[in-house]
Amino acid sequence: MLAHVPTLFMVIMALSATLALSVGIAARTQLREGMAYWALGLFAHTLAYLLFALRGQVSDWLSVVLGNLLLSVVFALFAEGVFQFQRRRPPRWLLWTPCGVVVVLFAALLPWYLARVVVGALIYVFQSLVVVLAVLQKRKETAGVGQYFLVTGFLVLVALTLLQGVGVVLHRDQITSVLSAHWLPGLVFLTSALCTVVVSVGLILMGKERADERNRTLAMRDALTGLVNRRSLLEALTQQMAHARRHGQPLALLMIDIDYFKRVNDSHGHLSGDKVLKTVAGVIAARTRAQDLPGRLGGEEFLVILPGTTLQGALQLAETLRQEIEHTGFCSVSGEVIALTISLGVCAQDQLVAPLCDDMINAADQALYLAKNNGRNRVGVFAPISLA
Ligand code: GH3
Ligand code: MG
Ligand code: MG
Repeated sequence: MLAHVPTLFMVIMALSATLALSVGIAARTQLREGMAYWALGLFAHTLAYLLFALRGQVSDWLSVVLGNLLLSVVFALFAEGVFQFQRRRPPRWLLWTPCGVVVVLFAALLPWYLARVVVGALIYVFQSLVVVLAVLQKRKETAGVGQYFLVTGFLVLVALTLLQGVGVVLHRDQITSVLSAHWLPGLVFLTSALCTVVVSVGLILMGKERADERNRTLAMRDALTGLVNRRSLLEALTQQMAHARRHGQPLALLMIDIDYFKRVNDSHGHLSGDKVLKTVAGVIAARTRAQDLPGRLGGEEFLVILPGTTLQGALQLAETLRQEIEHTGFCSVSGEVIALTISLGVCAQDQLVAPLCDDMINAADQALYLAKNNGRNRVGVFAPISLA
């Protein structure tokens, strides 16, 4: 297969420019998600290939040195984008030093094509691996499959660069320039055009998957407290109850209501009320275990799903939470101290016969009602009506 390398350069330029534009348009709404770096990287890629295509028509300083500098800048920008996407501080010296090395070595090796290919291959493989490792380090925390397109594209590029380095050494008498009529440069540039497409698809997917993840979180979470919202709580409760029944495990429910919360709003204002709600949510979240699910039912009411917990265990947690809130120093927005208590209702799945989600919520609500009726700042326990 003998491909016409200058034509391939044109194809890569057209592809890169189109992809830079597409990623650039996506970047307008996701500037902080790496997209702007990636769009710039694709733009630098376009310019690098423009300079490669002008080999022989412009000075080698422009085509070889500046062209390769731009290519190494592409890798640095891609890595910057990955670190920004992952909200990590980029190791700048690791990302940008290779660009300086490219300028020095390519300028020094200007008359020697073979040496330049070998040196370039080593630097570009290193830069590609930096991108791949940066992605893989955070792969579990990153939702979606876009990142694997990125990794695949860069790994193929690594293989290709190594192939090019070894190939040029083995066929050094036939390949004396990037424009030599040989199957290897054609194969390398054709495949690298495909890699550019695969990587760009990955970048756009990553941006879309990040937006989807954010929307999912928004739909599941209560905006004020950051706890899961009522809808997610009810969905989780249905699932957890079925799971507990199937495995013969206990499950308990804790309903929490702030006492006289209306007075907080009335005396200190709604903003202070919101601040208190956030602090109460923080205390509940900090006190519960990883497998427990605390959420905001609405208003000043919270629910905690306690998988694998008996009524006795739930009572202990309820009492701990009651005491902790009673002894927490709440503050209004203007710094005034607010004394606060909570009432709690506790029930367990095995207190009811084949309960549905609503039955458990009603039972916890009844228990909470008992606590309120008995004077507040206390724990109420659901008492099933015995037919005997
Ligand atoms: P009780 O001890 O019987 O529970 O009395 P309470 O005052 O806590 O209960 P009530 O249901 O009378 O009042 C609840 C108040 O919670 C009324 C409502 O304005 C306030 N509230 C509900 N949601 C929010 C919110 O998101 N932010 C703020 N600041 N207040 C809220
Ligand atoms: Mg209430
Ligand atoms: Mg209340």
